[in-house]
Amino acid sequence: MRRTRFAPSPTGFIHVGNLRTAIYTYLIARGDKNGKFILRIEDTDRERFVEGAVEVIYETLKQCNLTYDEGPDVGGDYGPYIQSERKNSYKKYALELVEKEEAYYCFCTLERLQNLREEAQNKKENFIYDGCCKSLSKAEIANKINSGIPYVIRQKTPEDNVTTFKCEVYGQISINNSEIEDQILIKSDGYPTYNFANVIDDNLMKITHVVRGNEYLTSTPKYTLLYKALGFVEPTYVHLPHVVKEGGKKLSKREGDAYFSDFVKKGYLPTAIVNYVALLGWSPEGKKEILSLSELEKQFSIKRINKSPAVFDIQKLNWVNSQYLKKMDDIEFSKLCLPYLIEGGIDINNQEWTNKFCLLFKDRLSSISEITKYYQQFLAEFILEEEAAAFLKENDCGEVIKVFKGKLSAIETWNSENIKTALNETGIETKVKGKLLFMPMRIATTGMLHGPDLPRSLELIDKDEVLRRIEKC
Ligand code: GLU
Repeated sequence: MRRTRFAPSPTGFIHVGNLRTAIYTYLIARGDKNGKFILRIEDTDRERFVEGAVEVIYETLKQCNLTYDEGPDVGGDYGPYIQSERKNSYKKYALELVEKEEAYYCFCTLERLQNLREEAQNKKENFIYDGCCKSLSKAEIANKINSGIPYVIRQKTPEDNVTTFKCEVYGQISINNSEIEDQILIKSDGYPTYNFANVIDDNLMKITHVVRGNEYLTSTPKYTLLYKALGFVEPTYVHLPHVVKEGGKKLSKREGDAYFSDFVKKGYLPTAIVNYVALLGWSPEGKKEILSLSELEKQFSIKRINKSPAVFDIQKLNWVNSQYLKKMDDIEFSKLCLPYLIEGGIDINNQEWTNKFCLLFKDRLSSISEITKYYQQFLAEFILEEEAAAFLKENDCGEVIKVFKGKLSAIETWNSENIKTALNETGIETKVKGKLLFMPMRIATTGMLHGPDLPRSLELIDKDEVLRRIEKC
């Protein structure tokens, strides 16, 4: 039975890459009908801890429908699911390793280590702890501990040979043991290091698949050595490629494209974000790319994860999101638009007008926040676009515009049906057809060559304003 875990460190925001890890971790669990998806908060690094960050994780997973079967707020048989609450359970495993001579006490002072580090730096070598304390006798160790000298516990890396592990995405990787430092398992404050806690927890929680970013590939040999020394079964590793922008640039906080919340704020739907992010580094077998979470659950396979960096393409996200917006229920869609309209200072008191306005653009938005841009373009001010002006210049449009204006002025009840009739009658009367009929009418009233259905658009603009625009044109 598969058991996977998403193990974020609560740093405040969910990065797009992290979200992708969560999605794949979830999907791998759901690929087994008895599979379990677990949330574990890795908060042992208190310096990086951010207030409220754990709640952001819960909230994000909820918004994305990535329901976990076990976790801090839902419970489970393998809790606690917050690492800082497990702090005291790790040391005994380190002591077992000392007992088996797979680990040892190290009393080296920070000063000594710093000197070694500087020496290595001067020689332009990588610093690796020299194993000085490995040969201390039992009596020496007992003496030092009794006199209260601070110590850490380090794992003894086998001196020769290589360490090999297999990642489902990157294949088999081997590294010479001479390059692997005797890693610290327990720090001088008695608490575990990050790597040690991670391995123990994965084992205690019976995790079968470890899914994480490929920045962990370099420390995986250390994990392998730990599993071996502890006699634990090693999980299946699935390391995921980086998510980058075109040209290899990093997604950035400053450019507002690094975090899940950045996209939600801009009016991308969590369902669409999940769909798009799932395609970053994985591809379905068929051509269909609009896939709901349950479709993803059926189709996802580790085999189709790509190891080259995944390129984040905002145009594609726009397209995916627009597909989701189109399919949305009208009322729900209008409701989602409201906060953006309010923020844009747009009067939403007339509910009927507001609904019609929102729905007019439902098929055209790539993110909901664009609705205010459309308001500016369509309603706030009349600007004759350059291309539109050129069209008027190049074609003889005077007659159509004149007749159309007459028809519009005669309308008593200003609604889209009557406007449509005026439009049709203009065609009949002037005997002009196609582009030469529709373009002048659209340009004279909206200033643009393209836009949503014209009668429905004009209905939302005040009649006097429409006539004024034609005059100005
Ligand atoms: N806590 C790690 C992170 O947030 C995850 C490590 C892992 O999944 O093994 O990047």
